[in-house]
Amino acid sequence: MSTRKIYQSTRSALLTASPAQAVMEGIAPDGGLYTLPSFADTGFDYQAALSLDTLDMGAMIMTALLPDFTLDEMTALVRAAYRNKFETADLTPTVTVGEDAVLELFRGPTSAFKDVALSLLPHLMRASVKKCGCDDEILILTATSGDTGKAALEGFCDVPGTRIIVFYPENGVSAVQKAQMVTQTGKNVCVCAIRGNFDDAQTGVKNIFLQVQEQNLLAGQGIRLSSANSINIGRLAPQVVYYFTAYKEMVAAGRIRMGETLDYAVPTGNFGDILAGYIAKQLGLPVGTLVCASNANNVLTDFLQTGCYDRRRPFLLTISPSMDILVSSNLERLLYLLTGDADIVKGLMQDLQEKGHYQVSDALVKKLHSDFWAGFCDDDGTRDTIGQIWREHHYLCDTHTAVAWNVAQQYKAARPAHRPVVVLSTASPYKFPEAVLRSLGISQEGNGFAAIAQLEKITGVPVPQNLRGLDQRPVLHRDVIDQAEMLKYVLKKAEEKQWNK
Ligand SMILES: *Cc1c(COP(=O)(O)O)cnc(C)c1O
Repeated sequence: MSTRKIYQSTRSALLTASPAQAVMEGIAPDGGLYTLPSFADTGFDYQAALSLDTLDMGAMIMTALLPDFTLDEMTALVRAAYRNKFETADLTPTVTVGEDAVLELFRGPTSAFKDVALSLLPHLMRASVKKCGCDDEILILTATSGDTGKAALEGFCDVPGTRIIVFYPENGVSAVQKAQMVTQTGKNVCVCAIRGNFDDAQTGVKNIFLQVQEQNLLAGQGIRLSSANSINIGRLAPQVVYYFTAYKEMVAAGRIRMGETLDYAVPTGNFGDILAGYIAKQLGLPVGTLVCASNANNVLTDFLQTGCYDRRRPFLLTISPSMDILVSSNLERLLYLLTGDADIVKGLMQDLQEKGHYQVSDALVKKLHSDFWAGFCDDDGTRDTIGQIWREHHYLCDTHTAVAWNVAQQYKAARPAHRPVVVLSTASPYKFPEAVLRSLGISQEGNGFAAIAQLEKITGVPVPQNLRGLDQRPVLHRDVIDQAEMLKYVLKKAEEKQWNK
């Protein structure tokens, strides 16, 4: 077991942490994100990983990223996390759709791709806390654009030694997403709406971490804050695994040869999912281009094309709400990995906060272009794409997946090589039934929940079990507050000994 402090903040090479400590803390004390200086130096044998089944492959990859844990320890955590939780044994099936492939990441307990990481994170978190010799209770704070919240609630629900508070934008999530969260059971869970958008909620959470730490606000209470957002490396690491499983399946299906590069199109919000693909590439997996797909909130498209990140633009509410983000947290890790210079990253993040924009060097833009391609697709394009995939391939996809599919086709048109692209599918179409029905040209009868039944009847695609009967469950969480009240809310909740009976 190594407890070497091999992780460091993206904003200071002097702020170091062991892998377990990085998972336990979630975010570095200076507001930076914990990262390895490079993921390319781990000596990882990607071909050996590809020869394993999904869970063993996962344990091998996770151990390489978090070497505080032995392979045996990690294997036990992985098995406990995924046992009987997903619809299929391989967790994340890759299916052929036309010339391309769809990597289905939504077969978990809440029908969102975030289940892949959030099934494992609570187990990893408990084990990390133990390794650090800490016996504090962990209080998870999470901001959600819709899917993280439910997946985190489900993952942490009744896990001993943990409590979780989820903040969501009051009008920024779908009816189904909201129902999933406000009906969550469990003694250690709390859900609260914020009057504002996702960026408000996320910034609010980040500020709480900083203020609690600077002013030592939870001193003596035996409580330690942590994060289940993809700013936590423990949240990111499990997502690296499915880039490998998809590659393996594409080789097995004869669609690529072993060693050939494979392109992936990723519907992107906070840049966590696509960064996991970049980490897979650093571990040696023959990843070609990572296609970054955005909706009309196309701040990342502009950045990856020009090197100018500019959040000074209207925040648009779209039919792919989990990607409605103007400040993509994990981009900071990429900036660090590409520059290797925490001072540069610190300066850029300061510009972003103070001026609302920053510009990176031409040399860095060149590096970005060697790994990434970017495009976006607005709501009309998203609906057209859902209708088209259904008509042409009889495949039903959700709005986020449709954005990625559309941008993948833009990418292929720009680079006409005849190779399949793996499109990451991040949610079940039944999480956004109204938008999907409309995309198929069908007018909706009744409310969002009736739309689920209607969509199933028309397409014959079965509704996932966890989304059935959602509107019948009792609402257990009704709090709504302003961003300015978040800190007070958390401190009050932290003091309460019992939340729910
Ligand atoms: C969270 C989410 C995304 C964006 O993933 P990031 O890691 O934040 O880039 C895309 N689609 C869905 C359905 C999501 O829930």
